[in-house]
Amino acid sequence: MTQEHRSKGGFETRAIHAGYEPDAMTGAVNPPIYASSTFKQDGVGGMRGGYEYSRSGNPTRTALEGAIAAVEDGERGFAFASGLAAEDTLVRSVCRPGDHVVLPNDAYGGTYRLFDKVEKVWGLDHTPAVLSDVEAVRAAIEPGRTKVVWVETPTNPMLNIADIEALAAVAHDAGALLVVDNTFASPYLQQPLTLGADVVVHSTTKYVGGHSDVVGGALVVRDLELAEAIAFHQNSIGGVAGPFDAFLTHRGLKTLAVRMERHCDNAEKVVDFLVSHPAVAEVIYPGLPTHPGHEVAARQMRRFGGIVSFRVAAGEQKALDVCAAAEVFTLGESLGGVESLIEHPGRMTHASVAGTDLEVPSDLIRLSVGLESAEDLIADLDRALA
Ligand code: PLP
Repeated sequence: MTQEHRSKGGFETRAIHAGYEPDAMTGAVNPPIYASSTFKQDGVGGMRGGYEYSRSGNPTRTALEGAIAAVEDGERGFAFASGLAAEDTLVRSVCRPGDHVVLPNDAYGGTYRLFDKVEKVWGLDHTPAVLSDVEAVRAAIEPGRTKVVWVETPTNPMLNIADIEALAAVAHDAGALLVVDNTFASPYLQQPLTLGADVVVHSTTKYVGGHSDVVGGALVVRDLELAEAIAFHQNSIGGVAGPFDAFLTHRGLKTLAVRMERHCDNAEKVVDFLVSHPAVAEVIYPGLPTHPGHEVAARQMRRFGGIVSFRVAAGEQKALDVCAAAEVFTLGESLGGVESLIEHPGRMTHASVAGTDLEVPSDLIRLSVGLESAEDLIADLDRALA
């Protein structure tokens, strides 16, 4: 079960070729979907290519795992049934009861729920911190107890930016790991391992899969000891990506670079439109020079991504009305697919953090800007805001 990193070339070359060599027997250029739970052994223990049972390893999944490791500039990748399954497996691999984790104070709601309602019951404490403030993160660390500093950048849905390099230094000073959820940026726009992070987390459901047709998650690391711990827990917990899901995710990854360029093009045009619209109180996008994290984002990201958040001047009901009135933007959760989505985080993705420190403004709308014609997207928002 080797993760083939044949292509050490440019990002696009790795996205297309890493992880898989054309099939030795047929020459198939894409990894076949190995819909097999078990594998014949040539005598007891005589496994072919290391495969014995698909929870432990499946060739379709191995191909994806090699490819995702290559595009993140990592050594080993792991594919899971969802982003949250990846997160839970990571936490169990590196934390023990009594340990402590620093979380973003505007973490994705599902991540916060995992730590606050699930991991906490097992004795893992957490402290939210403002990640754009390096000293606030240092202060939130409990020396000796903090095992992980968890970073999202840009965050969901406030698009705050954290300085990965600076936070890696702070985490490492305290003997903690720096984990970066790279879902919003995607590996094309940002590669946290090259900036000092120890682990990259993905909800591959989003940009990596890219077509809103599969739920999945991934972890990527460089350190081989850490990789062994994750491999052990991946197999022991069993939240793995199935072969059909691994195939779809891998297919999506191959076009990530071209999709991300267009997501960014369209998002920039939508931002240009929104900033001058009288019904819009504030546009939140790291590409805007007025965004407080703009300089850091410009340093660590290739471009600024396809997610745009904005606040409407007339309050929550207006925000709900805009969401309902949009037509080209589909009202729905998730992000990162070819189709544009609109949502009201306060009532939808972030409803689970209502009443906590992580509550989001009620007049906030989040857009996942897709790949449709930019003029149609702008006309749709213009109509919905009217
Ligand atoms: N991380 C971020 C930033 C997310 O936006 C999400 C889902 O929206 C997740 C993790 C969880 O991933 P999944 O829904 O694939 O379990």
